Amino acid sequence: MATERTLSIIKPDATRRNLTGKINAKLEDAGLRIVAQKRIAMTKEQAEAFYEVHRERPFYGSLVDFMTSGPVVVQVLEGDNAVAKNREVMGATNPADADAGTIRAEFAESIEANSVHGSDSAENAAREVAFFFSDDEIVG
Ligand code: ATP
Ligand code: MG
Repeated sequence: MATERTLSIIKPDATRRNLTGKINAKLEDAGLRIVAQKRIAMTKEQAEAFYEVHRERPFYGSLVDFMTSGPVVVQVLEGDNAVAKNREVMGATNPADADAGTIRAEFAESIEANSVHGSDSAENAAREVAFFFSDDEIVG
């Protein structure tokens, strides 16, 4: 299996409820290693650019408002098949569809306030990691 890196974000609904540690425990229990992590307040410009692919979607404006409504924790996860493994641990976008035991099944409030983000491909992971981190901030 290939060692990969992926970008994870603990979203404002989760930082507000003090769930950073519980979410990190789920990631680590799944074998993912947190090789970079910082708590930031995303600016509107950052959120708009990060979610650029969703610009035409009806939820785009609301999503940008949500992601700037409180602190987020951006992190780089490393491990075997990290992109797919993280998506597995996260669960489906809509918590109503998320498998039992996943982060979203346990913690998400709604399809928008769904506690975590995870890159959806190796290609997007590379772009998203570089969006928030310089190489010297990532220590594997
Ligand atoms: P993420 O990209 O955050 O890891 P995802 O890949 O499961 O989640 P996307 O389809 O990429 O979901 O949507 C990005 C984010 O936009 C979702 O995580 C959620 O916060 C929000 N979102 C997606 N669909 C909807 C919707 N129908 N209504 C409101 N918000 C939505
Ligand atoms: Mg996505």
